[in-house]
Amino acid sequence: MQASRDKRDRASEVIARCQTLAQFSEDSGSIRRTFLSPPMRECHREIAGWVAPLGATSRVDAVGNLRMVYPAAEPDAPRLQRLLIGSHLDTVPNAGAYDGVLGVVLPIALLGALNGRKLPFAIEVVGFSEEEGVRFGTPFIGSRALVGSLDEDLLRRQDAQGISIRKAIEDYGLNPAEIAQAAMQDQDNVLGYVEFHIEQGPVLENVDRPLGVVEAIAGQSRLEFTFVGHANHAGTTPMNLRHDALAAAAEWIGAVERRALSTAGLVATVGAIQAKPGATNVIAGEARLSLDVRHRHDEERNAAVDYLVQLAEDVATRRGLRVQCNVLMDQRAVPMDPFLVSHVEQAVSKAGCEPYRMVSGAGHDAMILAEKVPAAMIFLRTPGGISHDPAESVEVGDVAKAIDCGLHLLDQLASSSQFQRKTQHA
Ligand SMILES: [Zn+2]
Repeated sequence: MQASRDKRDRASEVIARCQTLAQFSEDSGSIRRTFLSPPMRECHREIAGWVAPLGATSRVDAVGNLRMVYPAAEPDAPRLQRLLIGSHLDTVPNAGAYDGVLGVVLPIALLGALNGRKLPFAIEVVGFSEEEGVRFGTPFIGSRALVGSLDEDLLRRQDAQGISIRKAIEDYGLNPAEIAQAAMQDQDNVLGYVEFHIEQGPVLENVDRPLGVVEAIAGQSRLEFTFVGHANHAGTTPMNLRHDALAAAAEWIGAVERRALSTAGLVATVGAIQAKPGATNVIAGEARLSLDVRHRHDEERNAAVDYLVQLAEDVATRRGLRVQCNVLMDQRAVPMDPFLVSHVEQAVSKAGCEPYRMVSGAGHDAMILAEKVPAAMIFLRTPGGISHDPAESVEVGDVAKAIDCGLHLLDQLASSSQFQRKTQHA
């Protein structure tokens, strides 16, 4: 009973701390904290003040990731094994207080709950500098530096003001020449990466579970289609003599939805459409539309995309139109590490929750870390499924369960010789 009250207090503190960090914003009255913006510095200072009394060191690496290390029981052990736990500290514009931030603040609560107890491995809590892709239109700058994939091409990328990533790093007082040292090194012997994150969707609430065990991060295709017909007078052109681009698009959009509804786990979305010339009394001569397709299995996703591309051609041909199709993104699905996933599942059970395995439809830092080390994610139920919005929230009871789950997970991994025998995949 005492223990559960303790976790609830810690959970309340986690929520209060997320709210504290929400004050560090580029905008007044709403949350916006992009890559290496001035409020990120205040955010780092505040967090560093929380971990210092716990015996953890903190530093900011060359891409602005906040890296806090809680030492192992034997810090001089020949194999400096460490477990990474983290998420991102940047936000979208008009953000909520928990996306990313919760996954940095919650592991600090785990360190606090250890009460000075050290584990056979060190714990590094990472607050990634960039995940959302807001400032430079490309996501995961922070985590890409950790896996060593932040290359020269990316560093030359510019924001809306024409400032490159490299220049932004220098302007913040960091040294781009040290980016290679931000990457996980062989001698770091990273055992794995665990990320707590709000679900940002309605699934857990719908099945009435506080915590989700992420098995995979869905692969994603983004395409752009342009149906080209003939614009003409809406009053004088009989229906059988039209080449209406928007009607063709509408027929195809209906099929996109039907395909997704008939394929388990598939989500497909036409989120944007533009008709030209775009007037009430003119038949549309051109319709340009987006397609976003996601699935945990790449074969299913690719099959759906192939089908929809072929269908767009069939619809266009039958109606006497042309269709062009451009692939903008083709990102593979990323499975989480089965060993860590099963331990997360056990830890969720020990925290008194029935585990619920699920797929993340959104990309996360764990997807990038998984390129190099075993990775796992734990989702927290998101009230109303609301995220990327000031109304984003978490339940204190759910955070308490997540803390409990995290502590069980640490204990399980600390007593698993199999886990500690694992060498990094780097
Ligand atoms: Zn996030």
